[in-house]
Amino acid sequence: METVLFLAHTEPDGSLARPALEALAAAKAIPGTLVAGLFGAAAKPVAAKTFAVCGPEFAESRYSTDIAAAEAIAKASGASVIVAPHTSRTARALPGLAHRLNGRADTHVTGIKTDGGVIAISRWYYRQRMDAELERSERPWIILLEAGCGEPFAGELAGALEPVSVDPGALRTKAGGFQAPKSDQQTIRPDAELLFVAGAGWTKNQKDGQPHLEDAGRLILGFLHQTQASLGSSKSLVDLSGEGQQVLPFLTHLNQVGQTGATPRHPKGLSTCCHGEEPHVVGWRFIRERRAVNLDPNCGWARGKADVVYVADAFEVMAKVNALLGK
Ligand SMILES: Cc1cc2nc3c(=O)[nH]c(=O)nc-3n(C[C@H](O)[C@H](O)[C@H](O)COP(=O)(O)OP(=O)(O)OC[C@H]3O[C@@H](n4cnc5c(N)ncnc54)[C@H](O)[C@@H]3O)c2cc1C
Repeated sequence: METVLFLAHTEPDGSLARPALEALAAAKAIPGTLVAGLFGAAAKPVAAKTFAVCGPEFAESRYSTDIAAAEAIAKASGASVIVAPHTSRTARALPGLAHRLNGRADTHVTGIKTDGGVIAISRWYYRQRMDAELERSERPWIILLEAGCGEPFAGELAGALEPVSVDPGALRTKAGGFQAPKSDQQTIRPDAELLFVAGAGWTKNQKDGQPHLEDAGRLILGFLHQTQASLGSSKSLVDLSGEGQQVLPFLTHLNQVGQTGATPRHPKGLSTCCHGEEPHVVGWRFIRERRAVNLDPNCGWARGKADVVYVADAFEVMAKVNALLGK
């Protein structure tokens, strides 16, 4: 029988963010005894036994304190399986924890199955092209579950906190603050319901033989502003700036979706002025409902890659959509 430890860092008020609640739901589904372990500025109980390493030293993301807290909790719990959300913080610290415990860690896990009592994880390889299912005999087994792959735990969070004391040691690394674009300039929104993809067609000569960059920028930003969708791009569009061509200034390579870009997870996607070639569409692997607007009825999306293709001028479609949204 496994002892399953749900391990996560907390938000400043002690609550759990959505990725942690998804990992909690996955941990609860594994047969065995469930215990929880939390570290951060503060913590609230989430399981009958919740080990907690709390204090201002553990509030910030810092390898030395995160791994010290995780190691103390893992040892106190005697866990054989540890399930944590895959965040930048856990991805940095928990493989080191596996080394300290002489266990194994798997990152970027997208699912956990327990058919017949045997734990198996799923994970993608080769830039999301191959889906593998893995079992491990080594323990403790640390599993970092990707966000957006399961439903968050929605039940009541209750139990008892069991404080674990940890010496944070010398704190040489200190966070000096956050540097982030203003929220209205931030176009990558991982939690958005919709991914809106702009392709290179937005910069091409249109019916009148001229490009319409300003109109394109206004239509795209207008749609994003009204829907709070996340903005993705094809590689061709973000590459244009390197070629000295006119570009949409709010796009960077961080927006690029595809084989050499990101593989975002949104329930829905709308592609505009993008041809839908395989190296781009492979980045849509986790987008469940796909629609595309393209002038070309023979574009890649029309060949089974989208659920719905509107053969239409995206400038006209998006102007109409924005007008309807504005009503
Ligand atoms: C090794 C490798 C890795 C790659 N990795 C990636 C990757 O990660 N991501 C990626 O995106 N690509 C990637 N590519 C490139 C990919 O193969 C395509 O070249 C790229 O996705 C094409 O971008 P696009 O569809 O925006 O542009 P285009 O192919 O130029 O297509 C523009 C489209 O816009 C349409 N259009 C024009 N005007 C309008 C209008 N008014 N209304 C509606 N539609 C209009 C046209 O019909 C056309 O279909 C990779 C290629 C290679 C070789």
